[in-house]
Formats: sequence, structure tokens, C-alpha cells
Amino acid sequence: MSRSNAPILVWFRDDLRLDDNAALLDAHRSGQPIVAFFCFEDGTERSLGAASRWWLHHSLATLIDTLSVHGIPLILKGGDAAVMLDAAIAETGADTIVWNRRYTAAGIEQDKRMKADLLAREIMARSFSSHLLHEPWTVKTGQGGPFRVFTPFSRAARAVGAPAMPVPVPTGMQGWDGGPDQGAAHEALAALNLRPTKPDWAGGLRDTWRPGPDGAADRLASFVDEKLNSYSDKRDMPGIEATTRLSAHLRFGEISIRQLWHAAETSQASSKAIFKFHQELLWREFSYHLLYHYPDLAEVNYQAKFDSFPWADPSQTPAHASLEAWQKGLTGYPIVDAGMRELWHTGWMHNRVRMVVGSFLVKHLLIDWREGERWFWDTLVDADPANNAASWQWVAGTGADAAPYFRVFNPILQGEKFDGDGAYTRRWVPELANMPERFLHKPWQAPANVLKNAGVRLGETYPDPIVDHALARDRALEAFKSLPKAATAA
Ligand code: FAD
Repeated sequence: MSRSNAPILVWFRDDLRLDDNAALLDAHRSGQPIVAFFCFEDGTERSLGAASRWWLHHSLATLIDTLSVHGIPLILKGGDAAVMLDAAIAETGADTIVWNRRYTAAGIEQDKRMKADLLAREIMARSFSSHLLHEPWTVKTGQGGPFRVFTPFSRAARAVGAPAMPVPVPTGMQGWDGGPDQGAAHEALAALNLRPTKPDWAGGLRDTWRPGPDGAADRLASFVDEKLNSYSDKRDMPGIEATTRLSAHLRFGEISIRQLWHAAETSQASSKAIFKFHQELLWREFSYHLLYHYPDLAEVNYQAKFDSFPWADPSQTPAHASLEAWQKGLTGYPIVDAGMRELWHTGWMHNRVRMVVGSFLVKHLLIDWREGERWFWDTLVDADPANNAASWQWVAGTGADAAPYFRVFNPILQGEKFDGDGAYTRRWVPELANMPERFLHKPWQAPANVLKNAGVRLGETYPDPIVDHALARDRALEAFKSLPKAATAA
């Protein structure tokens, strides 16, 4: 390890935390003065959606303040990362750059190129694993290849060994004393214009979230104390806050996946609950495994036979109107509308409801899953390059180990089963708040006097269903039958 007095530069990306951050720990151990760097990249990775930008703004604001407590300056730039990094090296005289690895094709490609370029200029570059429990290439089938099915993947991932124990924030870090001060870093952040202004639609996000590691740590602690033990029984019920809601914190690396794993592992919860929770963390790992091995997962059907699927054209009238009704939560199916409105208001949606709305778009409306993936990418605060793509392909039936296409979620039964008392639906679709349970998820079947007593006028205060469930189901199955029989990559 170098013992130079030149600063060492820590390039933060999807790891906006100080604890359990392998690159930062390495920088501390080098004994060199530390300077932090972040670049809001333009053109390498997929552009962040609007809700994610809002989150990123607040996460970076927290990072600036936390680093400054440790005397570490943050150089914050926007633009081409290679150019901006060069400028930061020139400004600081750093002789070593460290970062945690990312797993998108564009990110990997850029990191390789930059590492080679830096080493050629005799600038040290070191990279680390800090975003996953196990890096995608370390979990292999018996033949040494990638997995296509979750359950054997999860077994193999567990067999790799216990994930490393998380490490606390290093004590006594030495910051470089030449960088921009806290105020200048905040000015640079404001100049990135990550928050919406005209109009400012982020009120619902502000009311719901506290981006940053402190918000994440509080959520994890209360989850482990109060919710983990009933996680496997209640996690499918959207009306109950039974899951961690840590997905956006994880997306931006404000908390590490190893911290979640070990917090559960060392808790007092039942082994059934801990196992189930670990399985969900492994779904995230599986998504990254797929993304690493199938880099165009967000654009290309994993099962090529779906390439000829007769999707409705969303630029034409009926499909366009259906897509808009779905986006606005005006489909006439209460559980679908509740989910889409929760998403619009908070930037998040419960996992069970994500599956229901996804299935509705792809199967009831015959709209290509990529339209849904893009809408989620723009509106979710947790929009994640691996989880979003893999989950949409799972819902659509086009993915690896996907729900078979012919399994069409019934939005009425899903609502009745998982939101039986309607707590969730009534909250997000207030125009149905007074509907009795029996008809809440199928208001069009309610007798006129029931509708009247609940103050509902179908087609006026709440829409009629935009498609008939049984007809839509048959139409989806017909379309599916038109596909070639052989699945290429299933
Ligand atoms: P918890 O139940 O508390 O789980 C803890 C963590 O485990 C989550 O934060 C997440 O990182 C991981 N996890 C849990 N379930 C899954 C899963 N099914 N697949 C992958 N990881 C999982 N998740 C995202 O993080 N970003 C996305 O962009 C995203 N898009 C999705 C799109 C669709 C159509 C569907 C069906 C699911 C999507 N998911 C996505 C997965 C899942 O819905 C969310 O991770 C979960 O709802 C987040 O809530 P939580 O943090 O309370 O989860």
C-alpha cells in the first residue's frame, strides 16, 4: 500500500454511506489524506428518472454534511465522469483512486477503461465489492455458468458462505485540507438541478421519505424490532407496513446489503422469518446476477420467443388511452388504481401491488412490459437497473424463472385476498372509501343502492373498468398461443 502524502480520491457512486464502505475503508487504511468525489454522470449510465433524481439530491446533501464532520471534502461535478475525474486529479494531485464496483454493462466498461487509463499514467486505481452480498460471477452452477432459476441460485449463493460482516465508519479518518468546503459542495449540488421546480411535484416524496443513512438505519432498527418476526406472514399485505421500505436506501447505497443480512441474522426473530427475509435479499442478488450475465435485461426479452408477441401499439388510440389510464390510476380496478396512485404520490409501491399492476398492463392491456419498466424507472425512488428490469420480465413472463405468461393475475381476487378490509385501497382511492368490503374490489357489481350509499357514481366519481377481466384474460391467452412453442432461453 502506498505511503505517499498525496491525497487518495474516493469515487462515490451507488454507495452514499461511510460505514461498511470498502473503498472508503481502503482509503483510510492507506494513511493518505482523503478527498471524496461524485460525478452526476451524463451519458454513461441510463439517465436517472425524476423521482430518483429527487432522492439523489437529498442523499448527496446528507453525504456532504457527514463527510464534513470527518473533515473530508467532496468534489461534486456533473458531466462526463472520465473528464471530471481527470479534472479532480489535476486539482488535488491525487495519486490513487478507489471505488466500489458497479454491475451495469456501461458501468463495467467505463470502469475498466478508466482503470487501464489511470494505471498507464501511473495513478493507482483500486476497486472493491460493496454493493452485493456476493459478486455476480462468484455464484455459479455446477457447470460453472450463470443460473436461470431462483431457487438453485439462492441455494448456491448461501453455499458461497456467510456474507462478510459489515464494518463501522472508520475512526480517525484524515481528510485532505485543500478541497471545497461544505458550503461550496452544497452550491455545486444545487447547480445540478436534481429537484423538480416548475412545478414542484415532490411534496408526497418529502412527506414519505428521509433519504440518507440515518433514515435507513432507523428504518432497519424498527423493522428488526417490530416487524421482522411477522415478515413472512404479512409481507404480502399492502395495507400493513410489514416490510423494510429500504429499497431506495439500498439503491443509493445509504445502507449496505450486508447490514440488512446480518441485522436479521443476529436478531431474535424466528428462523422462518429470517430465512424468508434473506430470500428476498437474494432476489436482489439474483437480479444483479441476471443483469451481469444478460446486460440488456431492461430492453431485450430474456426469452427470445416473446420478440414476436403482438403487443398493442401505445402510440395508437385505444392502447394509448389504456396506458394513460394505467399511469394515472384510472383503470376502474381499485387495487390497480390504488397502486398506481401510491407510486405517483410517494415514489414507491408495495411489492404485491407492483406484481398486480405489472400483470394488468402486460396481460389485461397487452402493453409491452418495457412501457411499464420505463414508467417505473421515472416514477420510483428505488428505480434500480437490476431489480426493475428483472422484475418486469418476471411479471411479463418473458424473463428467467418468470411467472408463466398464462398465469394472469385476477385483480379482483388479488385485492380481496391481500387487501380484504380495503385499508390500502380506501387510502389511495378515497372516492371508494365508503364502499362495503364485499364490493370494494368490484364496484361495478354493486347494486345501485349500495353505490348510492357509498357516494359512488360509476363513470363519474370513479371509472368503469377499462377492460372486462374475463375477456381480457382470454385475449391474453390467445395472443400467447400465437408464439412459437420452443422457448429459447427458458
Ligand atoms: P423488503 O420486503 O423489505 O425487502 C428488503 C429488500 O430486498 C428490498 O428493499 C429489495 O432490495 C430486496 N427485495 C425484496 N423483494 C425483492 C424482489 N421481489 N426482487 C428484487 N429484490 C427484492 N425493487 C427495487 O429495489 N427497485 C425496482 O426498481 C423494482 N422494480 C420492481 C418492478 C416490478 C414490476 C416488481 C414486481 C418488483 C420490483 N422491485 C423493485 C422489487 C420489490 O417490489 C421491491 O424491492 C420491494 O417492494 C421494496 O420494498 P421493501 O424495501 O419494503 O422490501
